[in-house]
Amino acid sequence: MDVAPTSLRLGGLTALSTTDYPGELAATLFCQGCPWRCAYCHNAHLLNANTPPALSWAEVLEFLGSRRGLLDAVLFSGGEPTLQAALPTAIQAVRRLGFKVGLHSGGPAPQRLARVLPLIDWLGLDIKALPEDYPLITGVPGSGAKAWESLALALASDVALEVRTTVMPGFDHPDYLADLMQQLAAAGVSRYALQQCRPHSLLDAELRTQLPTQLPPPDSTPFAHFVLRTA
Ligand code: SF4
Repeated sequence: MDVAPTSLRLGGLTALSTTDYPGELAATLFCQGCPWRCAYCHNAHLLNANTPPALSWAEVLEFLGSRRGLLDAVLFSGGEPTLQAALPTAIQAVRRLGFKVGLHSGGPAPQRLARVLPLIDWLGLDIKALPEDYPLITGVPGSGAKAWESLALALASDVALEVRTTVMPGFDHPDYLADLMQQLAAAGVSRYALQQCRPHSLLDAELRTQLPTQLPPPDSTPFAHFVLRTA
């Protein structure tokens, strides 16, 4: 049964981003709640799904109504948007206003992701590491299998896909990253971003001392489209 978008729990909104949805002028909606606890997470305030929402769906609609013709797209980010049962109807409501829809996800709930893939134009999917290494990053057993299952579903769909890896200290050896990129390319990924941890607002503040000042570019990559995003 559909859940009304009024149930969507939002922790905030960015009125204009030129980077969250590459190539589009987008507003970003930050969904509350995430089942994982990555040490490098810089959205700790969004992780608890039960935090009272910072804005209502009515406020979102009022804002988006004032931005028709000024924005290209709306991006659902988080937290983890796919965990919210109201996400599909919220996406449909945004589409009816004439905006493209993008989604950021870590893929913890493959079947929930599969439900929204036909509704969105673009997906930025985090693949944090090789599957077996995920628990060392997310703190959750089995999280890698979920994320890589989500990747397979996204690749089998028609959605425009960018896979991104935020590099965790300890998983930053060039040989490890080369292996990860090779496995992603072998799975069918063609558009990929390697991202440096942002040094501020880290869930584990001690991680800051382990971050490189500058993430070095790889010697080569197997992707048709590659971007290095430094902090
Ligand atoms: S980085 Fe993403 S997946 Fe990890 S805890 Fe933060 S919101 Fe969740």
